[in-house]
Amino acid sequence: MSINPDYAETSALIGLGGNIGDVSASMQFAIDSLQAHEQCRVTKISKIYKTPPWGVSDQDWFLNACAEIKTSLMPEALLDELLKVERLRGRVRDERWGPRTLDLDLLVYGDEAIATQRLTVPHPRMADRPFVIVPLMDIAAGRIVAGRTIADYARQIDISGIEPANEELTLPII
Ligand code: ATP
Ligand code: CA
Ligand code: CA
Repeated sequence: MSINPDYAETSALIGLGGNIGDVSASMQFAIDSLQAHEQCRVTKISKIYKTPPWGVSDQDWFLNACAEIKTSLMPEALLDELLKVERLRGRVRDERWGPRTLDLDLLVYGDEAIATQRLTVPHPRMADRPFVIVPLMDIAAGRIVAGRTIADYARQIDISGIEPANEELTLPII
């Protein structure tokens, strides 16, 4: 098990999304799995948003959300955990940016800048993506990422197509 005392209680931001199957159930599964992990606790969850597909437009709309977790997992171990949870919800990697049951991206890990073969943090495309920035506005508007706040990023992009999904669709922390 990788516990790095320097990273005790690092705040990480996670992006959740999907467009196959019961996506809100998959996202709730991810939240519950992270909360159940002894080195993670889920501290904030955004609303769920209905968002147009990005990159490959010929597919169903997505549901997207973001969460903050506090974790003592090191970044690569956290990525492994996210990939494991995706697999448990039947994620298969096929077409790039294609349809998926559950996608969990590590957006931000403390103030770290990471660039390894497996992991780039902050997530290199997050600032361009309304489906990431809008949910992040719910939970981390003032957070500084790569020198600018999430609110700054929101002002730079077109966020008009991103709407909250059904109000009854929420992701409680249990
Ligand atoms: P995108 O990264 O543009 O959102 P995607 O989520 O569809 O695309 P995936 O197929 O889910 O891409 O991931 C491919 C690989 O990206 C993963 O196996 C992982 O090693 C790598 N990766 C690099 N940086 C990150 C990150 N910050 N979060 C999640 N995966 C990452
Ligand atoms: Ca992604
Ligand atoms: Ca991903």
